[in-house]
Order: sequence, then C-alpha cells, then structure tokens
Amino acid sequence: MKHAVLIGFYALLLSESFSLMAASSNTITIRYCIDPDWAPYESLINEQHVGLSRQYLSLIEQNANLSFTLVPTSNWQQTLEYIQTNKCDLIPMLNSTLNRKGFLDFTKVLFRAPNALYGHYNQPLIGHLANINQQSVAVVTGYRLHRYLLENYPEINIVEVENEAQGLEKVQNKEIDFYLGSFHGANKYIKDNALNNLRIVGISELEDKLRIGVSKSLSDMVPILNQAISQITVAEHAQVFSYLKEINTTQVKDYSMAIKSASAFSAVIICLLFGYWRSVNNASILEAKNKALQLAHQQLDDKNKQLADLAIRDSLTRLYNRGHLSECIQQQIKLKERYNKDACLLILDIDDFKQINDQFGHKIGDDVLQYFAMQLTECARNTDIVARWGGEEFVILCPETNIDEAKIIAKRFQQCLFETSSDDLPCVTCSIGIAPLRESKSADQWFIAADNAMYQAKELGKDTIFTIDNA
Ligand code: GH3
Ligand code: MG
Ligand code: MG
Repeated sequence: MKHAVLIGFYALLLSESFSLMAASSNTITIRYCIDPDWAPYESLINEQHVGLSRQYLSLIEQNANLSFTLVPTSNWQQTLEYIQTNKCDLIPMLNSTLNRKGFLDFTKVLFRAPNALYGHYNQPLIGHLANINQQSVAVVTGYRLHRYLLENYPEINIVEVENEAQGLEKVQNKEIDFYLGSFHGANKYIKDNALNNLRIVGISELEDKLRIGVSKSLSDMVPILNQAISQITVAEHAQVFSYLKEINTTQVKDYSMAIKSASAFSAVIICLLFGYWRSVNNASILEAKNKALQLAHQQLDDKNKQLADLAIRDSLTRLYNRGHLSECIQQQIKLKERYNKDACLLILDIDDFKQINDQFGHKIGDDVLQYFAMQLTECARNTDIVARWGGEEFVILCPETNIDEAKIIAKRFQQCLFETSSDDLPCVTCSIGIAPLRESKSADQWFIAADNAMYQAKELGKDTIFTIDNA
C-alpha cells in the first residue's frame, strides 16, 4: 500500500506522495475510512463496509474508474485520527465543517438528511433545541452536532458518547434525557433493537449535507469525484434511497400515548421525508437541466465558431477568402510600420485555365482549383496565409519573410505542382509574382506590385516566377 504507483491520466493530476496504488492499468485505488457504527449511512458488518456510502462509492468507482479500499477503524474518533495521520485518504460520507476543512477538502453534496432529537416517550415534545434547559443531551464525540451544541447551546448539559447506539440506549434506560443524532441512523437502531420507549421529540435545525471528504494531499481528486457524482442519475439516487425504505420509526407499547402522539409524529416524519425527497429530486432535476444547458452552450459555441470560420473562408477551396486576406495584409503593414518586419506577397495565377474549362468542363475546372488549393496549403508554412483571391488567382502572404525566402517558397510550389499532379485531373502550371513589403506602402500599392510581377511572369512565357522590388 505504501508503494505509490500513479497511472495514466490521474497520475498527471496527483502528486507522487499520495498513498494510492494502481489496481489495473488505468484504475487507481484510494484508501478510505468510515464511521463503523452509523447504519444505515455506513457501518462495518463482519469487517465489510455496508450502507449508503458503500453504494455511492460503487457508483463513483464506475463513473470515475477508481477503486476504493477500506481501512477499518473501531469508531468514528479513530476514523478522524486516521485521516489526519495519513492512514487513509478519504471519508465517503460526512458533513463539511470549518474545523474539518483544516484537513479535508469536500466534494459537492451527495446526500441530505435531517437530524432529530430522541427522548423517552414520557418526555413532553421539545420541538426545538432552544427549548431544552438544563437537561442532558447525548451526542457522539467528534460528530458535527457535538461541536454545534457546544457553540450554540452552552446551557445544555452535553454527554459525549462513542456512537449512536450508546446514546440511544442511555435515553432508553433514562440515564440521559435526550439523544441528538441522524434521523435515518437513529431510526434504524431503534427498529433493529426494539427500543420501544423512544420517540422523536424534536427536530434539529442543522441538516446533514453529506459529502465526500478528501485528505488535503489529495485535493486534486475533488473535481474528479465531483464529476463522478454529477454522473449519478436520478434513478441511481432513488435506488440508493430505497435502501432506507424498510426503516420505520419505533412503535411504543403504551398505546394511549402512541395514539395521542402518532398523528403529530407522522406529520413530522412525512414532512421530513417529503422535504428530503423534494430536495433530492430538485437537486437532481436542476443538475440534469444544468447539464443540458451546458451542452446547449457548448453546441452554440461550436456553431458560432463554425459560422465565424465560414465567414472568412472561400466556399470552393476552403482557403481564406479575400476579406480575411485584406485584414491580414493590413496587419502586416502595421507590423512593418512599428517593428520594420519583413513580409512578402505572392500572387499565383493558373496558366491557361480557361482552356481547362473549355476542354474538360466546369466541374473538372472546379476540381482542379480544389486540388491546386490543397497543394498550396501543403506547400506553405504554418505561418503563411493562403487565400483564394478569386477565379483562378491565389495569394500567399508570408510574414517575416524576405525576397530570397519567398522565391524558395514559390519555386517549391511550382516543383510540387509539377511532381504531384493528380492522375484524374489535367496538369496545370502557374505564374507567380512576388513583391516584398516596403516602408510607407499601402495595402493597395503592395498588392498592385505583386500583381504586376505576376503579369511580368505571364509575359515571360508563363510557368515562371517574377520578383518585383517596388522600393
Ligand atoms: P492566363 O494564363 O493568361 O491566366 O489565362 P487563363 O485562361 O488562365 O485566364 P483567363 O482570365 O482568360 O480565364 C480564367 C478562367 O477561369 C475563366 C473563368 O471561367 C475561369 N474561372 C473563374 N472562376 C472559376 C471557378 O470558380 N470555377 C471554374 N471551373 N472556372 C473558373
Ligand atoms: Mg487570371
Ligand atoms: Mg489564369
């Protein structure tokens, strides 16, 4: 376990010091600790992790191609100690608190649930924590509720217990007045152990918003886990939630008391469940809508990019069009004025192209233009701007290029045209005019100079290069 081997994509994200190990060629294993006494959220049964958090971890393992391995602990306090002493890397289900943020980074909320106050059925309804005065309340050491009580209700007589079971048993035996704990956890324990003297006597304003806590040294995992959480579907959340369905609240033996209180408690529980369901559903629906919106934004963005690209391209050859070339020429003139940068303009005109159309038809003429454009692109450098000026005339704008370098490009292209003719298309040659950019010349003057050079090349018998220096 101590040999940290980081693989693939995650290896780039995670520092080498992390105690992760490769389970297969692209899966990494993360050590985690749970609360062993917090059923149904999570617990250890025969050294096996069971409960809601195990089900969520399985979904996340699938979604993020991760593997989680349990480091067993004997209680929650030891889990907190293990995560802080690097004996494990992650806790799958806990609330985020200021104190815990000192050693953990948290994912988004995985599961929400209420906290309730449990009392003996002889106790009157308390309703709210603020109504407790001088009475004793059991709370698990290290749980967020513990610190919350200390900070917000100093007048309450807090009794620390190791786990929920201990707290509930003490209330059942009338050793302590109340137990404050998680709704599903306490209900399950009450049902499994037939603690029939207990009932809910109040609701805590503090709701559980359970997240995955990741050791600070593994904070790069948080976005990966968040991504995996986002991929959990509404149906999968419902499946996990159905795990809680069998857990009912306790039935008291004193039926007269039960009848009196049943309607009130049922209402509370129904409200809690309904509120919970609504929050899960709303969160999931919102999540799905956000995803759809993100996708729509992405598609719109792509379409806008395509449209922007279409606006600067020639439809037949996909080379830059005249408009875009003109902007690039203006840019070169500015660079010349400011930094005295070299640049050359090459105008290429296909020789006797009219004959190609006349002899082979307009369609073949178009194919020749496309093939010519493709060869031009292949021959030009990445930094050159290749455009179709119109008809059978093309332009290469070469930034940071002097006349000698421009001549090499022109020769290379003519050579390429000669050597790589298509078997299916008639061969063509072209005449090329070259003009370097001189100081204080306008775009028009520069273009006219290159065009004149091209006509000189035609005069010289075509398939020729002519360079003009318009100094
Ligand atoms: P030169 O060597 O002097 O340049 O002769 P040329 O025949 O190439 O030049 P000219 O200007 O006489 O003819 C150009 C021809 O290019 C005429 C026109 O029909 C054809 N042309 C222009 N645009 C297109 C096009 O998009 N597709 C096709 N197939 N032909 C085109
Ligand atoms: Mg022409
Ligand atoms: Mg021509």
